[in-house]
Amino acid sequence: MHTFLPGRVVFGAGALERVGAEVEALGVRRVLVIATNSARAAADAVQTQLGDRFAGRIDGVAQHVPTEAAEQSRTQARESNADAIVAIGGGSAIGLAKAIALTSSPQQSSATGGATTEGSVGGGGVVVVAVPTTYAGSEMTPVWGETAAGRKSTGVDLRVLPRVVVYDPMLSRGLPVKVTAASVANAIAHCVEAVWTPKADPFTEVVAAEGLRALAGGMREVLATPDDLDARGKLMYGACLAGSALATAGTGLHHKLCHLLGGTYNLPHAETHAAVLPQVARVNASSVPQAKARLEAALGTTDLAAGLFDLFQAAGVPTSLRDLGLTEAQAEEAARTFQPTDNPIPVTEGLVREILSRAWAGTRP
Ligand code: NAD
Repeated sequence: MHTFLPGRVVFGAGALERVGAEVEALGVRRVLVIATNSARAAADAVQTQLGDRFAGRIDGVAQHVPTEAAEQSRTQARESNADAIVAIGGGSAIGLAKAIALTSSPQQSSATGGATTEGSVGGGGVVVVAVPTTYAGSEMTPVWGETAAGRKSTGVDLRVLPRVVVYDPMLSRGLPVKVTAASVANAIAHCVEAVWTPKADPFTEVVAAEGLRALAGGMREVLATPDDLDARGKLMYGACLAGSALATAGTGLHHKLCHLLGGTYNLPHAETHAAVLPQVARVNASSVPQAKARLEAALGTTDLAAGLFDLFQAAGVPTSLRDLGLTEAQAEEAARTFQPTDNPIPVTEGLVREILSRAWAGTRP
């Protein structure tokens, strides 16, 4: 079974110029613009395109959508009568737009785990237009997240799925190589995990493999020439596919481990993926042999886990949790407290300990 999600994707160098026309085609009247600090110039351009539809602006966004920031933004959206948001930035800017859309109409959401048919895009409330500047992939998913008192809640609701996504590779051209590499590791994790979650299906497998091919190829090219527009385009295309794979397959053992490590020990979101993914692939991949072969061909390797590890190392992303600041005792505690999840092989405490101790030490699979 595969659920196709609604949504329109506009892609190409210079596509930022089309945001105004896309907004007009949606028939919305009052548009709030949310922009990450690095995207102020792009937000200025969008503001001009919006003309009379421009209803206000939020510049600068915090990571992981703190509830106070979400509440302030909801108030601003309400007071300015906004019926649409253009969010320009990475997962944090798009996450804030989703937080507003989630509460702008009265439908119910469901727990995280993949797409549902609950709600409808926009749901009669505020609709989101996303203009991504990183490769995190949130723009393609109906997944929302919000953080209160250090605890992140997530869920799935079609109301938060952006109605239009405008990918302009020029916007990510200046993303520093280090941030690029971590963001790509995050996207690659969406592709790889998508083949073994309980909701994995043949469509998603094809999307995930093509996403991995584009992301790995684009990453190698960006390492050689950071501002190469074609390479940046390849990464955005890969990010789009990775987000789509996450949207339909949901998350599994790997993402749940990363959320535990990020939430409890405050490890950085994108980098944690690079340390954990090769170790989860090492134990899981042989349970899905066809997908494993597809992903290996996409990565250009005969060993998925080792190939991922080597790519992340070459990109300069830390491949050990120790390097991210986790202590060995914390890794052990995480193994003890992790709640089992659906997975191709049973998730025992011993398996989680094996994954985390290797990820902590950064042992090549
Ligand atoms: P981010 O949005 O916080 O951006 C990272 C940093 O890069 C910020 O400082 C930002 O200002 C800067 N930046 C962004 N674009 C830039 C550019 N083009 N040039 C220079 N600097 C730039 O981080 P992210 O990795 O994009 O997103 C992470 C967040 O997204 C996390 O909260 C994560 O949980 C969430 N996420 C959600 C989903 C989902 O489906 N809901 C999917 C993936 C990630």
